[in-house]
Amino acid sequence: MNRLSSPRVKKFGLALALFLLGFPTFAQGESPAEKAKPIQKWVADSSDSLIEVYRWFHTHPELSFQEKETANRLAKILETAGYEVTQGIGGHGLVAILKNGDGPTVMFRTDLDALPVTEATELIYASQKQVTLEDGTPSGVMHACGHDIHMTNVVGVARFMASHKDLWHGTLMIVGQPAEEKGEGAKAMLDDKLFERFPKPDYALALHVDPFMSTGTVGYRGGYAMANVDSVDIVVKGKGGHGAYPHVTIDPIVQAAQLIVDLQTIVSREVAPSDPAVITVGAIHGGTKHNVIGNTCHLQLTVRSYGDEVRKQLLDAIRRKANATAESFRAEKPEITVKEGTPSLFNDRQLTQAVVETLNGVLGDEKVVPVDPSMGGEDFSRYGLAGVPIFMFRLGSVDAKRLARFEQLGQKPPSLHSPLYYPDAEDCLATGVTASTAALLSLFETKTDNR
Ligand SMILES: [Zn+2]
Ligand SMILES: [Zn+2]
Repeated sequence: MNRLSSPRVKKFGLALALFLLGFPTFAQGESPAEKAKPIQKWVADSSDSLIEVYRWFHTHPELSFQEKETANRLAKILETAGYEVTQGIGGHGLVAILKNGDGPTVMFRTDLDALPVTEATELIYASQKQVTLEDGTPSGVMHACGHDIHMTNVVGVARFMASHKDLWHGTLMIVGQPAEEKGEGAKAMLDDKLFERFPKPDYALALHVDPFMSTGTVGYRGGYAMANVDSVDIVVKGKGGHGAYPHVTIDPIVQAAQLIVDLQTIVSREVAPSDPAVITVGAIHGGTKHNVIGNTCHLQLTVRSYGDEVRKQLLDAIRRKANATAESFRAEKPEITVKEGTPSLFNDRQLTQAVVETLNGVLGDEKVVPVDPSMGGEDFSRYGLAGVPIFMFRLGSVDAKRLARFEQLGQKPPSLHSPLYYPDAEDCLATGVTASTAALLSLFETKTDNR
């Protein structure tokens, strides 16, 4: 092996580069493992109280934009810990600030909302909550996306930082964000002047539980990590009539069927194979009866991409295909509506590298694993678009033995949003709080005058 490419030399090179960029690497003084000791001791001592907080959030789930009790509870805990809390930002959003002298401002974000899912785990603290949805159907409510873990993690982080002010200097800004599941909460908070009423942070961190990674591990991805999410509605126009006399009608169902097949060639034949992209027709509604040709047929698509160029390419191609299909059927132009969802999540590369260096030192290299980018959406991306370097990492949430049992059975563990998903909370939180706090402490050591 070439000496210059040996892992040790590479690591030194990276550490030097990060140091010169103003990012800390714990290269001097105490090792990361030494620095993490007070956190690990505190986490072990605080486990019972964190589990109590976790179970409260788990048993009191609230839907997007309805997170009133959740926000009140989180606000109260943070106030008690010594934070200055402001509520009601972009709905039930909250900001909790802890000032501790000169230094950078670092934001840590948690989401607050749960999902209309009826919990089917057999946990003694399973959610019993029932609601009536907007369309009148009854539903259970569940923290099936693990946002209860995210909130409890933030509570652990906030309490540690408040009780160990000698270890850092700067301003810690905890953000409790509503309506992540609708992809609208971050926008609502930013539109409510989040970064004008409160300091615009030098960095922002967040984590998300991962249902397939074992507790004790974290996952990261620099650059694009999650996708642009757009919803497209296409109303294909026809000319209705009797099913026995198709020649005097324009059949919107056949036109829609043709269009669905044509749409499949956009990703496979127009987008470069190296650029990830998805077009899924998730719903099709048309017609009323066997022998009636209707006037219209309605298609609903989800469209996923990373960069702006591919996003535009996909949307332009969908419009072109829809219009061309209509023309080929002698039909009127279809109605096409694009609803922009969450923009793609781009983890700042320098920030990612700096935090990953810290996490390697604290958790051990083998517990900090690179993960593939996903085509899911996450509105934490919007803080990045507002000009803040962001980094969201994944937190393993299922006990290694439980994962092994699924593997033996040849099954996948329940995914997020499943009524059967549950994290192994104690170990998951221990790693979450340790990793989050160590990352924050290292970021508070950075000099921000070079930004
Ligand atoms: Zn979710
Ligand atoms: Zn989520």
